[in-house]
Amino acid sequence: MSVTNLIRVRPQWQQELAQSITDPVELAQQLELPQGWVEQHLSARKLFPLRVTQYFVDQMERGNTADPLLLQVMPQADEFTQQAGFVTDPLEEQDNEHPGILHKYKSRVLVILRGGCAINCRYCFRRHFPYEDHHFGRAQLHQLIALIEADANINEVILSGGDPLMANDQQLDTVLTALEQLPQLKRIRIHSRLPVVLPSRLTHELAKRLQQSRLQAILVLHANHANEITQALMNALKVWADAGITLLNQSVLLAQINDDAITLAELSEALFAAGVLPYYLHQLDKVAGASHFSISDEKARNLEQQLRAMLPGFLVPKLVREVAGEASKTPL
Ligand SMILES: *Cc1c(COP(=O)(O)O)cnc(C)c1O
Ligand code: SF4
Repeated sequence: MSVTNLIRVRPQWQQELAQSITDPVELAQQLELPQGWVEQHLSARKLFPLRVTQYFVDQMERGNTADPLLLQVMPQADEFTQQAGFVTDPLEEQDNEHPGILHKYKSRVLVILRGGCAINCRYCFRRHFPYEDHHFGRAQLHQLIALIEADANINEVILSGGDPLMANDQQLDTVLTALEQLPQLKRIRIHSRLPVVLPSRLTHELAKRLQQSRLQAILVLHANHANEITQALMNALKVWADAGITLLNQSVLLAQINDDAITLAELSEALFAAGVLPYYLHQLDKVAGASHFSISDEKARNLEQQLRAMLPGFLVPKLVREVAGEASKTPL
């Protein structure tokens, strides 16, 4: 096949991904942000580079340095702030005996299928994670199968990352086909932010493949603000919902972005309108460089209480935090 043919057959989402924005100056120009505002933050990109899709940028408001989507991706000088308790590996994941496989909870095993993401979220708890050591190849797939077969408690596999939907449909098919052979497994879960930052990733082919699977499929999205739930995303999710895939969302509580009850209620309503149920609302993991996003536990509990009064119970996400070494997510 010639090179031009290869380019032509590359799916839409991969073409869009290749055009991601990585230069803060370019982003600022597109959004018509004041030059001085950008300059004071530029050095923070060295801590963790900027990365965002054009589609996500298109949802941001021009000229607004407080845009809730912009704040999730723009490097900020605050990231240099060192705060007690904020560390590089808050979940103590980096000394793992099986690289790429996290088996912390009894019935489910989490796989770091792909290191990279389409977006670098500034608050990411894996912003210091040595992803290079976590390539999931054939050897890891064999290791995963052996680990599952050796433990009858495991009935669900969670594909995570980074972002597992950075893998292409063929790669996902290979993993899925292998897992379908294991009778003890009931479910396959995909934790991905890609649909929210690149709805074209929700291909019909992958929805169909999951629909045909013996395993029940669950897609857990990651959206933090109602502005992330667009018509394009709703259209793409409709196909997945019609394929019988359960749609859930997890969010992270973020200062200045979604730390008020009205914003959180709007998010829940927008999710439900898109066929998605709110699942978890995470208290921020204490990762170095993200302390400016954190809110107190007291405030978090207060927000949850307000949400209960505003929304039906099924639209109130569970407020949790992850505690290293615990057997599940911990309610606040
Ligand atoms: C969060 C997490 C899971 C999934 O937990 P659920 O409560 O089932 O959503 C599984 N494994 C690891 C390592 C996790 O961090
Ligand atoms: S999508 Fe998730 S894993 Fe990727 S950078 Fe954002 S928070 Fe981190």
